[in-house]
Amino acid sequence: MIDIAEIEAARGRIASTVHRTRTELSDRLSTAVDVPVYLKLEHHQRTGSFKIRGATNAILNLSDEQRAKGVVGVSTGNHGRGLAYAARQNGVRCIVAISQLVPQNKIDGIRAQGAEVRIVGQSQDDAQVEVDRLVEEEGMTMIPPFDHPDIIAGQGTLGLELIEDVPDLTTVLVQLSGGGLISGVAAALKARKPDIRVIGVSMERGAAMYACQKAGKPIAVPELSTLADSLGGGIGLDNVYTFEMTRDLVDDIVLVSEAEIAAAIRHAYWQEHQIIEGSGSVGIAALLAGKVRPNGETVLLLSGGNIDMALHHRIVSGEDVDVTAGDENA
Ligand SMILES: *Cc1c(COP(=O)(O)O)cnc(C)c1O
Repeated sequence: MIDIAEIEAARGRIASTVHRTRTELSDRLSTAVDVPVYLKLEHHQRTGSFKIRGATNAILNLSDEQRAKGVVGVSTGNHGRGLAYAARQNGVRCIVAISQLVPQNKIDGIRAQGAEVRIVGQSQDDAQVEVDRLVEEEGMTMIPPFDHPDIIAGQGTLGLELIEDVPDLTTVLVQLSGGGLISGVAAALKARKPDIRVIGVSMERGAAMYACQKAGKPIAVPELSTLADSLGGGIGLDNVYTFEMTRDLVDDIVLVSEAEIAAAIRHAYWQEHQIIEGSGSVGIAALLAGKVRPNGETVLLLSGGNIDMALHHRIVSGEDVDVTAGDENA
C-alpha cells in the first residue's frame, strides 16, 4: 500500500515540473444538486492530463543505469504523453506501446513529445506484449500506467491539492480505470480526513475495475470502444496494488452510459466553458444523471482534456455521436 508520506515525497519531487491546477466552484452544478460542487481543473495540467504527475515521479526515481537504457510503457494515450514528456525533460529514451483503439490525437500528442510509438493489436494486453519484449531484449524499464508505487504516489498528489483547496470536502468523484489515480487520491484524502467519501466513476462499456471488485479478484474484462477512451483496458491479472487499494479505500463505484458521457461533455462546454475529454467528464456525468447523491461539499475531478477537436465539435453541436458502431462486442 502507498501511504501519505510517499505521496508527500512525490509532491516535492515533481513540484517544479507539474502545474498546481486550480479548483473552482461551479455555480450551475451547485444549483443543480443543492450542495457546493467544485471542479478540479486538471485538464489544464501540462500534457492535458494528470498522468504527468505519476510519470514524472517514476522517471525521477530511476537509477542512472535505468535512465541510460530508457523507459517503455503501455498506454491508452495520456500516460504515454505524460511519460514521453517526463522522459524528454530528463534526457531519457522513451517508447510507448498502444493498441489500435487509441485515437489519433493521442498518438500525435505522444509523438510531439519525442517518444517512439508502437501500435500493437486491439487491446492494452496486446500492447503489453511489445513492452515485455523491450524489457527483455533491450533492458528498458517498464513504467506501467497505474499499478506501480511511483505512479500511485504521483497521482495521489492531486488528493493533497484537493483538500487544501476545499478543506470541508465530503465527497469526491474520481475517474476509475486501472485505479492508479483513485488509489493515490483516496490514500491522500483518507489519511487527512478518513470520513471523506471517495466514489469511483467508470463507463458502462468495459468497466474493468468494477467487474474485478464484483468478482473479488482481478479478472479479464473485454475492452470496448467508448467516448471515455482513457478509461479502457484491464487492471492486469497479476495486479499488485490498485485492486486492493481500490477495495480498501473506495466507498462506491458508479457507471455512466455513453449518452451520459456525451451530455457531460456538452455541459462542461456550454455551462462551464471547459473542453474536456470523455474520460474527464464522467464525474459530471454521474452527478447530472443522479447516480451519486452528494451530502456536502463535493469535488469533481476533470482529469483530462485530450479529445479530438473534430469529435468534440460534433458532440457539443448536438450530434448523436456513436463511437461504438462496428464494435463486435457492442
Ligand atoms: C488514465 C486516465 C484516467 C484513469 O486513471 P487510472 O489510474 O487508470 O484509474 C482518468 N482520466 C484520464 C483523462 C486518464 O488519462
